[in-house]
Amino acid sequence: MNTEKLLIEIDKSFPFVKKPQGLELSFHKDDCPHCYYLRNDMEKYSEQIPKDGLRWLHNELSCLSSKGLLWVLPSLLRYCVQANDTYDGLETEFLIYHLSPDLKYQKDAIKQLSLFSKEQVGCLKMFLDWCKNHEHWSEYCCEEISRAIMFLEGVNA
Ligand SMILES: [Zn+2]
Repeated sequence: MNTEKLLIEIDKSFPFVKKPQGLELSFHKDDCPHCYYLRNDMEKYSEQIPKDGLRWLHNELSCLSSKGLLWVLPSLLRYCVQANDTYDGLETEFLIYHLSPDLKYQKDAIKQLSLFSKEQVGCLKMFLDWCKNHEHWSEYCCEEISRAIMFLEGVNA
């Protein structure tokens, strides 16, 4: 999967969408301070999320609902692939981690992917394939990339 092809697939599978409103954005609805902060801090964004927002989100992806993740991924995937930053690449690193959840988080991760189409799950696998062939990420996150691909194989979309 080369970069150019992957970007075409991302354009097809993850067009920009409107931000889900209010409680629809977060994984938990009430009584979760993390999800509350997520809803507040994302208030200023609508369709596309700039670098600042993606940096804020990098470690908070589990706070997103399925709709919320479908809103974030169009910006996040394009950023990871286009910026291709290996020196300060937290967004890519944490997206790989997020897609390779430990057993105890897999149920939530599957729920988070519940609104994804087959095509969208396929596109995430292509992204991981790109990471697997990337000179930095293949070295740095080798095990997590393989685990993520296996995890997505098991997701019924
Ligand atoms: Zn929460």
